[in-house]
Amino acid sequence: MTRPPGNPALTPFGTTIFAEMSALAVEHGAINLGQGFPDTDGPREVLDAAKAAIEGGRNQYPPGPGVPELLDAIATHQRRFYGLDIDPATEVLVTVGATEAIFSTILALVQPGDEVVTFEPYYDSYAASIALAGGVRRTSVLRFPDWQVDEASLRAAFSDRTRLVLLNTPHNPTGKVFTRAELDLVSALAREHDAWVVTDEVYEHLAFDGRAHVPMSTLPGMRERTLTISSGGKTFSTTGWKVGWVSGPAAAVAAVRAVKQFTTYVGSGPFQPAIALGLGLGDQMYAALSASLSAKRDLLVAGLRAAGLPVAVPDGGYFVIADAAPLGAVDGLAFCRELPTRAGVVGVPVSVFCDDVEAARTLVRFAFCKRDEVLAEAVRRLAALRG
Ligand code: PMP
Ligand code: GLN
Repeated sequence: MTRPPGNPALTPFGTTIFAEMSALAVEHGAINLGQGFPDTDGPREVLDAAKAAIEGGRNQYPPGPGVPELLDAIATHQRRFYGLDIDPATEVLVTVGATEAIFSTILALVQPGDEVVTFEPYYDSYAASIALAGGVRRTSVLRFPDWQVDEASLRAAFSDRTRLVLLNTPHNPTGKVFTRAELDLVSALAREHDAWVVTDEVYEHLAFDGRAHVPMSTLPGMRERTLTISSGGKTFSTTGWKVGWVSGPAAAVAAVRAVKQFTTYVGSGPFQPAIALGLGLGDQMYAALSASLSAKRDLLVAGLRAAGLPVAVPDGGYFVIADAAPLGAVDGLAFCRELPTRAGVVGVPVSVFCDDVEAARTLVRFAFCKRDEVLAEAVRRLAALRG
């Protein structure tokens, strides 16, 4: 065969950094603060509900849009937390994690040559999904350690070819929770350029220090041009279940469903009623989750600082970014590839989420969704590295 296999659109992406770094963690028995997944289980009721669904025989294809009780639970959740009214029958679609929601939404909206505006550093699947749709990525850089939106560069990223803005708040990897003023700016630019806004809100329940998560679709004039994506993975510590969803105007959700029906067809059956049950749990569950993660954030931030690293304190999410230059990092990717053998710790280089690699040259992302003793041991190892 003369032509090599592989989709040329994916050539620049190689293997995801999460797979590479998790493999290194296993190979070297290192502490994995790379890939963002908790090392403890979430609410017992949610786990039991999945077991009950299997025992109850819910083991065949569920309906394509999602099981009715999950569609209802998502609509109820949006009303309960944000005052949004969405029709579970036409304005919600259950997906295989937020990842499929992102991919299918981009494929549904973006035609070859259309431009997609996003902030960088960006979550890695954004760039690959845009490339597979034949879209063109236009970014605005958030800079360490404040991650403030730079209005001039954001404006410059928009053009008459802008089809959509891909926003993520709370943001991975920076932990930034976009301010109301920043959301207003994005919303104004989207309306000016008649663009869709796709918001990835998978960390919606992980905004810390009393910060409120504000969904883009609650802003004036935005409900009709916003598709909102979330997932049960972070909220219920079930990242391996891959139950996500997208909600928005019926016609747009139908367009996403048209893509989904030929990629995964339906999502996994027994996990859907379990996530539905989880979404209905009391406020105490949600408060405890955010309190636990913000305490872990504090622990890791203090430990990294004690190890001599400049740190950007995250407002939310699972991750903290530190500058590893004091540990001798010159290139973050090379540094992270060596870290498992040098220190027995795994982190993720932020530059892999950037077009402007220089803006993140020595920055490393560490996950704090781990047991306290694991975080303590990781920072002890990093401090020892400094000598
Ligand atoms: N978006 C962001 C910002 C993420 O951090 C992640 C990782 N969980 C995802 C999407 C993917 O979510 P899921 O595991 O539900 O596919
Ligand atoms: N969202 C998680 C992270 O950013 C896991 C991503 C993945 O494995 N695709 O680490």
